[in-house]
Amino acid sequence: IFLPHLVASMEVEESYIMIKPDGVQRGLVGEIISRFEKKGFKLKGLKLFDCPKDLAEEHYKDLSSKPFFPKLISYITSGPVVCMAWEGVGVVASARKLIGATNPLQAEPGTIRGDLAIQTGRNVVHGSDSPENGKREIALWFKEGELTEWTQVQAPWLIE
Ligand code: GDP
Ligand code: MG
Repeated sequence: IFLPHLVASMEVEESYIMIKPDGVQRGLVGEIISRFEKKGFKLKGLKLFDCPKDLAEEHYKDLSSKPFFPKLISYITSGPVVCMAWEGVGVVASARKLIGATNPLQAEPGTIRGDLAIQTGRNVVHGSDSPENGKREIALWFKEGELTEWTQVQAPWLIE
């Protein structure tokens, strides 16, 4: 079967990436940011943020009927998160690969979850699952004026 959202696209996209409270508490912020930075993607927004309950519920609304939903909301609101907007060609699917499988024990070594986490309920990072959700989530987590447009000097060395 053809799964278009899993295939790295040639389009410039945006992905909402968030370091969850366990990633912040465990001192993994620099490590996680550097994986996206070194890959070559462009950071357009970045903040440390105490997520209110209603925002966590809106962000994860598609999972609201799941039995783990209350635990998920208390996990995400249990401490500060790091919110990021990343832009690049194929960034949505690529970021999902860099992050690895939802269950860190099934995530490949070399991925963020595969290298840095053990349990699904403490899987250190979020990444948008489609370009549409990338846009939706960035609009949800960032206010007007919190995103920056800039030109990466390395752009010609990344994209032919
Ligand atoms: P993701 O896109 O890989 O983050 O996974 P999902 O969209 O399926 O789930 C969103 C988040 O909910 C996951 O990253 C986990 O933090 C959490 N989650 C998903 N499934 C479970 C579960 O079975 N138990 C618990 N405790 N948390 C879960
Ligand atoms: Mg998801």
